[in-house]
Amino acid sequence: MIDLHLHTTASDGRLTPEGLVADVYAAGCRTIAVTDHDTVAGLSDTRIAAEAVGLAFVDGIEMTAVAAQRDVHILGYFIDPEGPRLHAFLATQRERRRERLQLMAARLAELGVPVAIDDLVASAAPGKSLGRPALAQALIRAGHVKSVPEAFDRYLAEGRPGYVTREGTRPSAVIDEIHAARGLASLAHPGKLHDDDLVDAIVQAGVDAVEVFHPDHTQKDIARYQRLAERHGLLVTGGSDYHGPNTGRASGLGSVSLSTPAFDRLEQAARARRA
Ligand code: AMP
Ligand code: ZN
Ligand code: FE
Ligand code: FE
Repeated sequence: MIDLHLHTTASDGRLTPEGLVADVYAAGCRTIAVTDHDTVAGLSDTRIAAEAVGLAFVDGIEMTAVAAQRDVHILGYFIDPEGPRLHAFLATQRERRRERLQLMAARLAELGVPVAIDDLVASAAPGKSLGRPALAQALIRAGHVKSVPEAFDRYLAEGRPGYVTREGTRPSAVIDEIHAARGLASLAHPGKLHDDDLVDAIVQAGVDAVEVFHPDHTQKDIARYQRLAERHGLLVTGGSDYHGPNTGRASGLGSVSLSTPAFDRLEQAARARRA
């Protein structure tokens, strides 16, 4: 199995690089990419753990963009994780994430469900990117909700009272950063946008690929985005978007696998890009 969408504790995954590798190996995956939100901090440890058990490992990322007031996730694959330009860009992205969490925490206090997040922000490891799941955990710790899904349903999801619209980078600028890091850009889980005009606009912004295979995609979504990729001559990617156990998400390891031919095409394109 080939799973190109995985998260670690470097962002909002619940598993360390070592824990993740143990789980994906047990689930039968033999090629993986880690795609943490706006950070590359988990890549080198995951690569070491993956290669130790014979897994093929691809350096990845899931960058956050904003278009039409919506969060748009763009995956990067075969990136060079070391460049100073990439590091500066990601540091800015993470700073925006922290500011937004603080705004959301203030909103939650107004709603009568205060959470303590200052310690969490101050004690976050260097390079760790914080997101709404950290607020969900804080809401649980404070006794305001019992579970992550309840936290999102009542407060944190788009359109819920604790939600604060993100300030952010345009998709085209995010795609430029991935290309500058010599990677390939793939529009993550387009089906979650529920807006195919927006999907078309992001495709026009210059992605190399579309994430056709994702646990939140219906069979119809898969067929539609496969056709979209063919129409525009784009590569296809896929993965489970696994965040670890007890994350309030249905997606499990092994729920989604990219085909070997599709992966080979991606790898060839990355090699051509770097040549
Ligand atoms: P953020 O990066 O701050 O926008 O938070 C988005 C992350 O929250 C996603 O990557 C998921 O890990 C998680 N998430 C989003 N919606 C839900 C939900 N309804 N239930 C559980 N986790 C969610
Ligand atoms: Zn996430
Ligand atoms: Fe995503
Ligand atoms: Fe993800």
